[in-house]
Amino acid sequence: MIIILEPQVTSGSEEYNKIMAFLEKLPNVQHRIHAEVGEQQTLTEIYLIGDTHTLDKEEIQALPGVGRVVRVSREYRVLGRHADDDQRTSAFEYNGVTFSQDTLNVFAGLCAVDTPEHVEIMMKALQAEGQVCTRMGAYKPRTNPYAFQGHGKDCLNYVFELAGKYGIKVISMEVTHESHIDEIHAALEATGKPTGVMLQIGTRNTQNFELLKSVGRQNEYPVLIKRGFGITLEESLNAAEYLASEGNRKVVFGLRGMKTNMGDPHRNLVDFSHVPTVKRLTRMPVCIDPSHSVGTRSRCCDGILDVFHATTQGIIAGANMVLVDFHPNPAKALVDGPQALLMKELPYFLEDIRIAREAYERRRALADKQPA
Ligand code: PEP
Ligand code: MN
Repeated sequence: MIIILEPQVTSGSEEYNKIMAFLEKLPNVQHRIHAEVGEQQTLTEIYLIGDTHTLDKEEIQALPGVGRVVRVSREYRVLGRHADDDQRTSAFEYNGVTFSQDTLNVFAGLCAVDTPEHVEIMMKALQAEGQVCTRMGAYKPRTNPYAFQGHGKDCLNYVFELAGKYGIKVISMEVTHESHIDEIHAALEATGKPTGVMLQIGTRNTQNFELLKSVGRQNEYPVLIKRGFGITLEESLNAAEYLASEGNRKVVFGLRGMKTNMGDPHRNLVDFSHVPTVKRLTRMPVCIDPSHSVGTRSRCCDGILDVFHATTQGIIAGANMVLVDFHPNPAKALVDGPQALLMKELPYFLEDIRIAREAYERRRALADKQPA
């Protein structure tokens, strides 16, 4: 059960204290408080856990200072969609960019940062196309211990400075250890916060619960959590809930394909038909990663690359974010060159996305006209 207080009822007020006193007396019920501090107002939500099935919703609803009471299903308490809770929004804003189940943001960029020159070419091209988001891998989780592990903190300053130079507002950057959050934070401070970072949890760390707790405990940076490539969707959504249960609700859920030979000749079995499923089960914006799903530059006989086909399949189903690998010189890329799109393909890729997004919007309008 979630109790949502009226906006003026904040910690220390008389009504707040009375509600707390009421809750303290409930047997076998614990509570956890989450204050969502917005520019206009602070919304306090109280999560009740334990023996909540016997509680009288109407009685709690009637307490002075209580705005609404929502009964939640057992799963995904914070991020899930619950029967009587269509008012709580999934949207969040970060560094001037809005993320929700209705928006669409493209994060085209380097799988792994290699040289300042490549970072600059990429960001300059994005600015020319009016893009304000990118992906830049500094900490790379590699299958082979002898493979390039990413430049780590050594590249952060120039990546952030160049982002500021080219108007990039959000960089998706994977972290594989909690110390990386501090390194990113320190580099942003040192460079005068020219940009923002969305912390990325990679598919290999989806169930690294201690990492999830660390990333969830901080509220400054939003998080993109990828679906685990060998676990169920439910297990991956629970992993996302770890972030929110620790306090960070600015969470985007990423589909990136499943590891199975059934997906051959693609690197992974593309799972973008789950875009609407995740939107139905939770309130998270949904990201698709066509690069790590498809994993090649194979082109169909219709002239369209498989990566483009997979991207538009996700967009036409309502995806809210696209994470995609580009590289100025894929032959020289230190990670995942074979799946990278070319700089000259960027305008074409964005136009293809626009076509698919328009089709999605028309499909929504058509659905609205159907009898319930
Ligand atoms: C990545 O996006 O760079 C990456 C490693 O992806 P994944 O965790 O999905 O393999
Ligand atoms: Mn990669």
